[in-house]
Amino acid sequence: MHSHSRSICIPAIFTILLTVPAWAQSQNAPIQITADLSDAPRKLFHAEIDLPVAAGPLTLITPKWIPGDHRPTGPVDGITGVVFTANGQTLPWRRGDVDLYEFHLTIPAGVTTLHAHLDAITLTNVSPKLAYLEWDKLMLYPANVPVRDIPIQPSVIVPAGWGLGTALTPIGDGAYPVPASGSTTHFAVTNVEQLEDGPVLTGQYFHEFALAPEISPKHYIDVASDMAEDSNLRPEALAEIANLVRETDALYRSHHYNQYHFLLSLSDTAGGLGLEHGQSSENGIGEKEFSDGDHQLGDADLLAHEFTHSWNGKYRRPVGLYQTDFATAQQGALLWVYEGMTQYLGNVLAARSGLRSQAQYRDVLAISAANLDCTPGREWRSTADTAVAASILRDGNPAWANWKRGQDYYDEGELVWLDADTLIRKMTNNQKSLDDFQKIFLGKGGNTGPLIVTYTFDELVRDLNEVVPYDWATFLHDRVDKINPRADLAGIERGGYKLVYADKPNPSETVMTANAPPTANVGVNAWYSIGLRVSADSEIKDVRWNGPADKAKIVPGSKIIAVNGQVFSPDALGAAIRDAKGKSEPIRLIVQLDNFVSIADIDYHDGERYPVLQRVEGMPVYMDDITKPVAPPAPAQSKSTTENPER
Ligand SMILES: [Zn+2]
Repeated sequence: MHSHSRSICIPAIFTILLTVPAWAQSQNAPIQITADLSDAPRKLFHAEIDLPVAAGPLTLITPKWIPGDHRPTGPVDGITGVVFTANGQTLPWRRGDVDLYEFHLTIPAGVTTLHAHLDAITLTNVSPKLAYLEWDKLMLYPANVPVRDIPIQPSVIVPAGWGLGTALTPIGDGAYPVPASGSTTHFAVTNVEQLEDGPVLTGQYFHEFALAPEISPKHYIDVASDMAEDSNLRPEALAEIANLVRETDALYRSHHYNQYHFLLSLSDTAGGLGLEHGQSSENGIGEKEFSDGDHQLGDADLLAHEFTHSWNGKYRRPVGLYQTDFATAQQGALLWVYEGMTQYLGNVLAARSGLRSQAQYRDVLAISAANLDCTPGREWRSTADTAVAASILRDGNPAWANWKRGQDYYDEGELVWLDADTLIRKMTNNQKSLDDFQKIFLGKGGNTGPLIVTYTFDELVRDLNEVVPYDWATFLHDRVDKINPRADLAGIERGGYKLVYADKPNPSETVMTANAPPTANVGVNAWYSIGLRVSADSEIKDVRWNGPADKAKIVPGSKIIAVNGQVFSPDALGAAIRDAKGKSEPIRLIVQLDNFVSIADIDYHDGERYPVLQRVEGMPVYMDDITKPVAPPAPAQSKSTTENPER
């Protein structure tokens, strides 16, 4: 159930949702859905679904626009083995000719319950040892009804001995989070909107830890791993994650969940994952990424990012990104707030919590700022357009990605909100900050259960003006909507640092490169020198538009066979770039494109270049103020984390 605060201004769209449609009025009974994950190690889920129905035509549908994915990723293509039965008879069905997510049936007279069986072929976010259940993989429910008006009661069967973690409310025998062998775990009735938002993580090697127990409501981290030793997180990591709960509590001063579960999978094969939910988040990283501080660095902001989305993205949602069903297209125009401000806050909270040091925060920011500043696509495409076009920019093909631009609204948004934060601090002599804005924008309405309240650009501007009066509308339009050939580095500079290029990677880039998962295939970063991204196995991922390698007519997707007469290796390429410094001879590559080999001479003589933030002496150091812890210290008698006993 959703609770609603009376003090909040709820937009008109929101009020409409509260009216109960004819379908829901006629159906008191919830849909019953049992997800059987017994075959999850074989990448197959099964579902048994009982739907209350009345005689006549019925259209069932499965989700298309998955919240948080920002594109129509609903896995309808994996739904297979579909059989509908009623009163012991199999009923025929026909797919929608226009909307392929629809199943059309005619319910015979006298039938009040329709049974559906289906299997879901699930190739991502599962491994032989763990699985995420995202309910959109196997949900069927009536079409053309607001999903929050459809009651549904979920149950889950997991492989024998596997634990499970979820923010869904369990009912029954208390066997959760490690159910008795072969048993079914039942959860309280919810609605289709909330069930889609309530994933389950299950795994053979499973631990649940309570975090910062002095804070209410309760927070847990549920960890499943491919290898037995990884899911029992080391105490230092748990202490930092508990700090994240405290720092987030201090920053937002409100919450919109009954309890919160970080779901964390550690696997080199299940695939990377970061998906936000109101009361939980799915976080999938490499199996050793929490094994020590160095391995942790690359994804150190992931938990903070997805947790922040419970406020920024789930509770407060751009008006076009919220739709009353999962069939209607979501509009991304304000993703530079939804994702961009979350990118900023996730990195800030990671530093405040100790998941990253302040120096590591700056190193990582240098890497993303330099990348944006050397993205020539910004000469034709605004940041706003990367947000509007989000659903067609998520394919991740690196070829000419710098000329096309990708999902830059994340990192561009981070720079814009750092710019705003430092500007507020400067205008108020460091008495106010973007933290004060969060207390207004994300904190209005006080504490509630799961709740979605939409917002517009104008509300952002109003709330910023409440912190400090300024022409915030122009500030945001200039940075987001206009063509800006250079990245917004004003926040870094006002914060006491400047972006420069050194001849060695910054310490964090070195650590992240050395500790990247094997699947990352990290090679040579020659982007800021000759303008090439090259994988360890010699493939040219991208060529910087108008850079030295572009002028040598090198093509993304080529392989480098030789460098200055030597067989390619990452070290040979680095040495060639260093050796060419101050000389006149080009760097000579032999490259293979498809079945053809050619010579490319790169006329470049400035040596290796890597981004770093350099302190500007005499300036206020707002960036260091921003990344300092703000939460009160944990009570001395309270342990940061405890292994959660079976509940
Ligand atoms: Zn995000």
